[in-house]
Amino acid sequence: MTEVISKIREIKLFIDGEYVSSSVNKTFAVYNPATQEEIARVHEATEADVDRACQAARRAFEAGPWRTMTVKERCVKIRRMAEIILERKEELARLEAMDVGKPFHVAYDFEIPRAAHNLRFFADFMEQLGSETYPMDEEFLNYTRYEPVGVAALITPWNLPFMLTTWKLGPCLATGNTAVIKPAEPTPLTVSLLGEIAKEAGIPDGVVNIVQGFGPNSTGEFMTTHPEVDLISFTGETSTGKAIMKNGANTLKRVSFELGGKAANIVFEDANLDKAIPTSIRAAFLNSGQVCLAGSRILVQRSILKEFVDRFKDAASKLKVGDPQDTSTSMGPLVSEQHYNKVTSYLQIGKSENATLVYGGKRPELPEYLKDGYYLEPTIFVQEDPKARLCQEEIFGPIVTIIPFDTEDEALDIANDTQYGLNAVVWTDNLQRAHRVSHRVRAGTIWVNCWFIRDLRAPFGGFKKSGIGREGGHHSLEFFTEAKNICLALK
Ligand code: NAD
Repeated sequence: MTEVISKIREIKLFIDGEYVSSSVNKTFAVYNPATQEEIARVHEATEADVDRACQAARRAFEAGPWRTMTVKERCVKIRRMAEIILERKEELARLEAMDVGKPFHVAYDFEIPRAAHNLRFFADFMEQLGSETYPMDEEFLNYTRYEPVGVAALITPWNLPFMLTTWKLGPCLATGNTAVIKPAEPTPLTVSLLGEIAKEAGIPDGVVNIVQGFGPNSTGEFMTTHPEVDLISFTGETSTGKAIMKNGANTLKRVSFELGGKAANIVFEDANLDKAIPTSIRAAFLNSGQVCLAGSRILVQRSILKEFVDRFKDAASKLKVGDPQDTSTSMGPLVSEQHYNKVTSYLQIGKSENATLVYGGKRPELPEYLKDGYYLEPTIFVQEDPKARLCQEEIFGPIVTIIPFDTEDEALDIANDTQYGLNAVVWTDNLQRAHRVSHRVRAGTIWVNCWFIRDLRAPFGGFKKSGIGREGGHHSLEFFTEAKNICLALK
């Protein structure tokens, strides 16, 4: 596998079944965040390239055979994609670790298998799908067909590139749509391979297209304004969602948005801390805290504050920060210099707002070859003021803020007092409280005494500024389909 990670790759666009260069041969560099070494030159899609990709997707949609083949035939090919992903699991995990800076074992054990599962799950789900019928006495019968919408733009962020792209591609393809995919500019490596994986699986040319580039005034904007794009499935920042919505408005595109978060992880005094502490550590520092679902605000009942802080600090100090390719590493670097600068600016913001730094806040000591990596220690603040920026803004890094509270009502007020509403975590051994609090927190997913457990049939998405719409199970399939009612006279 060393050859996988040692060469500088050339990443081309995948349009109409072929890897092609940018029409003006414009490229940009991608770096390994652990070392700052250049790992790829990426062809940036111009407006003309995006147009070619969208036209190819349109032709493939209109002409068939993708849309017109049986669901069973389509799903055989989607499942084959999943098999190929598992056959290439180590290569994909190595590339993801090198590109994002996440520990190899996280990609190998969780994200790449989950990517395969995303495709398999939606193929299986689609095959099982029924539809509604509404008989009107003996005279008329209504039945519903779910038909593909057309060309979908799938735009994804850099924190879970391969996993999140397949999470959109699975339902998009299973329902018979065609796709133009854009991965985030710092992390294009694994998603670019979906072209050859789709081709090998027998997906017809033009059904899956992949363009590379940036957002505003670049590839992303060209996609979201393109007249041939019917729908946009986007995961990323809330501010980007707003821009995409504006850009898609002229051509009235359907949108599904999975946006930012600032989850409350609420620890009541009756919680089982032997479970709450290790899970809260994962929720705070998995993928260096670059997870939309991160439990980045830990609300702790004051009666257990000291014990919680001591034990949480101790557990954080045992995390091994280091080389993502090393299987013993639990936390890698941040994804890029720009993001490192944003995340570390919160160290100063915390100090200026009188938060107490209880752990971390520095560059960890690392071997010489990692000296240029974008590393930050797991960092813990205690902040009494829930209105402080540390408690309100999505930091998206290994900085977690502990906020003390006294009563359940106060915890709920703090939990609900942000613009976000993606998810929350509740730790309590009191069943009534678990339900009561879960019902009153305004967020799309509530985990009680656990975190990041996902059943792909369940709805996933955000309240408030954390998103529009839901993904998962029939929610994804509804987004990617038009419901058509057919009314039949029986007499
Ligand atoms: P981002 O919004 O900066 O970028 C996401 C994607 O959008 C990239 O591919 C980018 O190139 C593209 N883009 C940017 N501006 C665009 C524009 N004007 N038009 C079209 N495309 C544009 O997000 P990011 O920094 O890559 O990812 C981090 C964010 O993603 C965090 O806010 C995180 O919470 C969120 N996220 C949410 C979920 C979820 O399920 N809710 C999951 C993962 C990440």
